[in-house]
Amino acid sequence: MINLQEQLDDAIELMQQAQRIVALTGAGISTESGIPDFRSPNSVWRENPPVSYRDFLQSAEARQKYWQTRKRLSGQVADAQPNAAHKALAELERHNVLSGIITQNFDGLHQDAGHSAEQVVELHGTSRYAACTLCGARSSMQELQQRIDDGESDPCCALCGGFLKAATILFGQRVPEAELTRAKEMALHCDLFLVIGSSLKVIPASTLPRLALQRNVPLIIINLQQTTLDPYADVAIHEKAGSVLPKIVAML
Ligand SMILES: [Zn+2]
Repeated sequence: MINLQEQLDDAIELMQQAQRIVALTGAGISTESGIPDFRSPNSVWRENPPVSYRDFLQSAEARQKYWQTRKRLSGQVADAQPNAAHKALAELERHNVLSGIITQNFDGLHQDAGHSAEQVVELHGTSRYAACTLCGARSSMQELQQRIDDGESDPCCALCGGFLKAATILFGQRVPEAELTRAKEMALHCDLFLVIGSSLKVIPASTLPRLALQRNVPLIIINLQQTTLDPYADVAIHEKAGSVLPKIVAML
């Protein structure tokens, strides 16, 4: 059985040889910033299932439930700060060896850590903007939240009349084609694929490291739990990203 130090050494050696690293990040990187993992066993979602995209579009009652839940959770996301793992990725960027970040998170913490919007592909959207469900136009989330707080119950797009919500992906809603295309491009051109804080259970994110594996690109996984791709990874470390990733990046 290989110990943690040996795993770190292997990861450092692989990272030292790489020049076009792509990082895929999931909920596990943000839990250390106090953002709950909505898919974890004791998540509030287990008792209060989230509104699906279909229900959101078809039912005024579901939209009201959506805004009530959002009000409860938005404070946690608004107060969150980037942690050591986000900062380590930003450090990697300064080394000029990071092609980009693909994230399943919508909390904007990678941008807060110093990445430009162009470097981050947000597969599940962002809670920092509002978006129209019909024409796709983005607008200020703050303004939209203010309308809700002022008592508006079912806000609609001023341009086309479509229903407004946060620019995040609801269950049953497809990942935008443009984002997925960018993510695939990154996976197809990287020379090292790094998974951080994702259990790789949700498609299409889970398909991206496979694109890299098909090209014999090294795969490093840092995630508290085991993932289905652990057997294929060159290194799979089951520790907190915030404690492991800075150690690796410091050695580059
Ligand atoms: Zn619209």
